[in-house]
Amino acid sequence: MKNCDINFNTYLKNYPDADGFFGKYGGAFIPDELIPAFKEINDAYLTICKSSKFIAELRRIRREFQGRPTPVYHCERLSKSLGKCQIYLKREDLNHTGAHKLNHCMGEGLLAKYMGKKKIIAETGAGQHGVALATAAAYFGLECDIYMGEVDIKKQAPNVARMKILGANVIPVTHGLKTLKEAVDAAFEGYLKEYKDAVYCIGSAVGPHPFPMMVRDFQLVVGQEAREQFLEMTGELPDVVTACVGGGSNSIGLFDAFLNDPVKIVGVEPLGRGVKQGDNAASLTYGSEGVMHGFNSIMLKDENGDPAPVYSVASGLDYPSSGPEHAFLKESGRVEYETVCDEEAVDAFFALSRMEGIIPALESSHAVAYAMRLAKEMKTGSILVNLSGRGDKDMDYILERYPEKL
Ligand SMILES: *Cc1c(COP(=O)(O)O)cnc(C)c1O
Repeated sequence: MKNCDINFNTYLKNYPDADGFFGKYGGAFIPDELIPAFKEINDAYLTICKSSKFIAELRRIRREFQGRPTPVYHCERLSKSLGKCQIYLKREDLNHTGAHKLNHCMGEGLLAKYMGKKKIIAETGAGQHGVALATAAAYFGLECDIYMGEVDIKKQAPNVARMKILGANVIPVTHGLKTLKEAVDAAFEGYLKEYKDAVYCIGSAVGPHPFPMMVRDFQLVVGQEAREQFLEMTGELPDVVTACVGGGSNSIGLFDAFLNDPVKIVGVEPLGRGVKQGDNAASLTYGSEGVMHGFNSIMLKDENGDPAPVYSVASGLDYPSSGPEHAFLKESGRVEYETVCDEEAVDAFFALSRMEGIIPALESSHAVAYAMRLAKEMKTGSILVNLSGRGDKDMDYILERYPEKL
């Protein structure tokens, strides 16, 4: 399948199809017991998301609670240091709680409320999704169960504290490696027990249908705002838009608003320490087709075909797959995927901090690093980067690991 087979004018209406497929990627590969639960979420979403009441309430929440629209910002000093190409940032770091994740968590929370549910359930790795969801739960007056591996609980003390302060139940997962994978399984089990009263909320544009579609739809606000703001600021569209890709939510929200435009679109994957298996999490670059966590996409596999161990300096990017829509857009050729290693990302972290006064998340630093590399090559034109989050959460790590840079 190639680009020319896809009508990007009607893309958002046609993709995914009714079963959640973007071409051959996506779907819902779940245990039979969970099928009715996911069907209930899908049916509710398809009805509710079109109601003017839901749309109006989500708009009000975005404006009054989240602080949207977030601005687009022109990095004059950074751009000048690289040549004549101009770099712009979509400032998702200024979203309440400091990252784009709240965009879909507030959508998922509002859906749970409209469905009459009492509780929202999720797993979390580094704790970023847990904090965003706990925030949504507090806002809507819902109970919130966050499953988290015991190892991650020890590593991510500040986020665990935030979730508890916000009133969420942090449930330690004590079997296996006690990290994200076990937490996903435990959260699914918990959900299976109480799906009549609860909704499961996935933290990225991954998982079984309808989540990749719902999360994409809730994140689209990023790209729609950015496109309009950029046009208003400069009178034209950017030449390139780029964002980091973990599961793929902040990137898909930006990219889909530009699919039908003459704009080059680039997703940036984490190359970590290098190309060896276990040293990176660049699933779209080095992976192959496979099913994990309930969806078919491109994933990194070990010798047994199971999800491979992955690594990135940015904990929000170390996931062995990416959402099905990214696999589809890569195969179509419409979106390109590049990689950035730890060191280049950390250099960009310091460059943006020191030349613009903006401390980015290490995840977002990957996209900034790619934009800096490309700006030098392009020499003219413009690049719009999604700055998915702020770097406060990464400062202790940076101080400890890179004292020589201070
Ligand atoms: C979680 C996270 C990411 C990665 O998730 P996506 O779903 O790929 O967007 C990127 N940036 C920040 C700041 C995050 O917290």
